[in-house]
Amino acid sequence: MRLALVAHDRKKQEFVDFVAENRDFFAEHDLVATGTTGSLIISRTGLPVHCYLSGPLGGDQQIGSEIAAGQVEAVFFLRDPLTAHPHEPDVSALLRLCDVKAIPVATNLATAKALVLGLKDLNSRRAV
Ligand code: PGA
Repeated sequence: MRLALVAHDRKKQEFVDFVAENRDFFAEHDLVATGTTGSLIISRTGLPVHCYLSGPLGGDQQIGSEIAAGQVEAVFFLRDPLTAHPHEPDVSALLRLCDVKAIPVATNLATAKALVLGLKDLNSRRAV
């Protein structure tokens, strides 16, 4: 599966910790990310991640383009709900495309944990 990974600045630490804790799961998939999130994941885990531009510089739109093309099967986008972001339209567009394409998207850590469990289950069923 191809998974997209994004975290707003105040969520980056907890998201990178989460990816490190679930390294075996993420290692089984193709990973794409916005620039800063991806770089942090690479330096923390050593996992191969295709890094797009930083989110505010167009990275969210680049990931949105992959979603629109049907290349991404699930999105982890840890949002900071307490801070205004200049690229909010890009964030909304990305999340809207997830609904257009009906792909799962986790926007907080609790949902991210549930999504990992769900995707593991899905993968094990596909393998049968
Ligand atoms: P970043 O982008 O990973 O490059 O910081 C995330 C975002 O969309 O805010």
